[in-house]
Amino acid sequence: MFKIDRHEVPIAIRALKTANVYEISGRKRIIVDTGMSDESYNELMAQGLSMESVDYIFLTHMHIDHIGSAHRMQQEFGIPVAMGEEDIKRVNAIKESPEDFRDSLLEIMRMNGTPSAITDQMIQRHFVLDHLDTYLRIEFDIHLKGNEEIIPGVRALSNPGHSPGSFSLYIAECSCLFSGDHILPGITPNISFYDDSTDMLGLYLESLKRTRTLSAKMVYPGHRSPFENANNRIDQLIAHHSERMKEIAGIASKWMTAYEVAESMRWSKERNLVSMNLMEMNFAIGEAISHLMHMEADGMLERKEENGLYLYRTP
Ligand SMILES: [Zn+2]
Repeated sequence: MFKIDRHEVPIAIRALKTANVYEISGRKRIIVDTGMSDESYNELMAQGLSMESVDYIFLTHMHIDHIGSAHRMQQEFGIPVAMGEEDIKRVNAIKESPEDFRDSLLEIMRMNGTPSAITDQMIQRHFVLDHLDTYLRIEFDIHLKGNEEIIPGVRALSNPGHSPGSFSLYIAECSCLFSGDHILPGITPNISFYDDSTDMLGLYLESLKRTRTLSAKMVYPGHRSPFENANNRIDQLIAHHSERMKEIAGIASKWMTAYEVAESMRWSKERNLVSMNLMEMNFAIGEAISHLMHMEADGMLERKEENGLYLYRTP
């Protein structure tokens, strides 16, 4: 029998406000995700999270609101850290040259029509460089490839899409899925790009279908409250993305950049690109790019390159 405890900790992301940290205790103990920063860490300590006999810190993915205080737990308590190897590669690239990592992402933004007034701001304020200290200090002891039983009864499952190396944990005994940001209640996980050629939305939709075969009864997500019936939420997410693709096909009747498509897309809370803060704008343009890349890979759109810009339209 496993005992599951949830700790909700504050994070400095306006749209999310908090992140979840879980303790899974059986014959062995795992901590799933670690919040965003020292503020999250202090909150975990205040909530009485015990670091005694923790076997692993399992990080669902590389995003800063999930790995924030892992290096402190690792260094102060000597607990090994496990994460998906594809995300570890990205963190290693950040460690090697943070500016190159940032600039390669911004170059893709630029090629997709994002005005330099915006990319210039993103150079000044970028999530990777803003939290560089966290990325530099973390070491990965276990590189997950997928489908490992990391402790008896708990399996690590690869589900790329939200990030290249996103992972979930699945406990068959209780049909419980610790989904990270792969599946969230009430909010659609952000799907963006990490390079110029990988169809991240395609990977994500495949991951959702693979997760669906588990028919997990309980989902313990990376943000917001745990909920029942994973497949119900998976069906909503798949439907959401096909709606989004229909919307985009309607917008791209003539050659357009992803940025121009993003300007015409509907965003939650009646926002538009101009009224978003920089991080939200980053997410929105990333969403447009990942949908366009997937639609092109699937033959729903065609793409050409002109004057250093990618342009898309419905054939
Ligand atoms: Zn995330």
